[in-house]
Amino acid sequence: MKLNNFFNKKKFKCKCCGTEYDQIPLCFGSTLPDYYFSIPPEERDERIILEKSLCVIDEKHFFHRGRLTIPIIDHSENLCFDIWTSISRENFEKRKEDWNDPKRIENEPYFGWLQNQIPTYENTINIKSRAIEQHVGSIVKIEIGEEGHQLTFDQENGIKLARAKEIVQCILSNEHKT
Ligand SMILES: [Zn+2]
Repeated sequence: MKLNNFFNKKKFKCKCCGTEYDQIPLCFGSTLPDYYFSIPPEERDERIILEKSLCVIDEKHFFHRGRLTIPIIDHSENLCFDIWTSISRENFEKRKEDWNDPKRIENEPYFGWLQNQIPTYENTINIKSRAIEQHVGSIVKIEIGEEGHQLTFDQENGIKLARAKEIVQCILSNEHKT
């Protein structure tokens, strides 16, 4: 086998347009919570406070961004999504207060409703989730808690690389269309 071919094996080619990746892209993110889009564009500046991982709408709807990981059982890396969930005002304030506190990992998980659609899954908007604090400097971990939902099952049990490729291809096809 030529060395060149050996390395090529790891490459990932987008089916929709042929774009080549050195390796399969497995980390994706949403920059905004779904609720954002329910606010008319001309009112967003006034009603929304948006930071990289925190968002407040109308001073009463609170959101934060965390990492949802789906284990890939036959691959060395996992599929991950940096996505938004709602969070109560109390927990939102607690998160901000504890942001640089090493003891934050002892906090109880924060309940929230998922705020992004995960491609290829049936509706994932407003399904149950909990956010688990990580060490300072690491993004909060999101666990799906919606009973009977495929995403809950997949996060708990993992998926095969072939299935991950389907999800990735779906995401790329959407991205490459626009
Ligand atoms: Zn493409």
